[in-house]
Amino acid sequence: MVVARRADGRFAAEACDCRQQVRIDSLLERARIPKRYQHCMFESYHTDFGTDPSLVAARLIARQFVDGYPVTTEGRGLLLTGSIGVGKTHLAVGILHSLVVEKGVRGLFCDYRELLKQIQHSYNPQVATTELEILRPVFEAEVLVLDELGAAKPTEWVWDTVAHILNTRYNDRRTTIITTNYADAPPGGVATGPRNAVRDETLGDRIGERMRSRLAEMCVTIQMSGADFRRGVGRARFG
Ligand code: ADP
Repeated sequence: MVVARRADGRFAAEACDCRQQVRIDSLLERARIPKRYQHCMFESYHTDFGTDPSLVAARLIARQFVDGYPVTTEGRGLLLTGSIGVGKTHLAVGILHSLVVEKGVRGLFCDYRELLKQIQHSYNPQVATTELEILRPVFEAEVLVLDELGAAKPTEWVWDTVAHILNTRYNDRRTTIITTNYADAPPGGVATGPRNAVRDETLGDRIGERMRSRLAEMCVTIQMSGADFRRGVGRARFG
């Protein structure tokens, strides 16, 4: 502990920097951000090479979201929609990273398809892990990033499972940040605003209309348009 002067001029005991750093490192580890996305922060999210204006706006809203969390966000999250490679996951991880580092949030990154596979795997009688053990951290994370919602082939089981996850978090007023390649429109519907997803199917087709409309209550939608970053600046090269 160190004694530090607060903004109001009084002195108060605070955890010293090294203890805070240990705490942040532990929170980051528990957030389970995949290695591939560990470089994803606001600082590394570029909007300076003739970027589509929607991406500049998305970055601004994301920054305001972090700054306002949890007071102005009041349990609401974000739904980042747009075609593949526009930087939805990068921005979502940037938000999660900043919330952990700046606000000490208990966050979790979760790949939607991977999560469904793990749950299905738990039904195997030879596997010791139960469905609830897999879902508990997803239910309890203060902020959850659910990446690539809708990416799994829709079945009745998939719809029920998504409903279970989203309804539980909605009822507990927990913040969920979602990325999806599907347009935020009802089944068979047409996306409004800029063309924001490459797929003909909509989010309503993939997760069911009830859950899509639940998301409208849970999240503010950010539409991101533009080219696939991986095919341009982010293209893999040697040297
Ligand atoms: P999406 O989730 O929309 O499919 P990703 O966030 O996975 O796209 O982005 C693909 C790759 O491109 C990632 O490595 C990401 O870090 C990078 N990337 C995308 N947009 C940007 C950006 N504006 N600035 C820096 N890197 C970006």
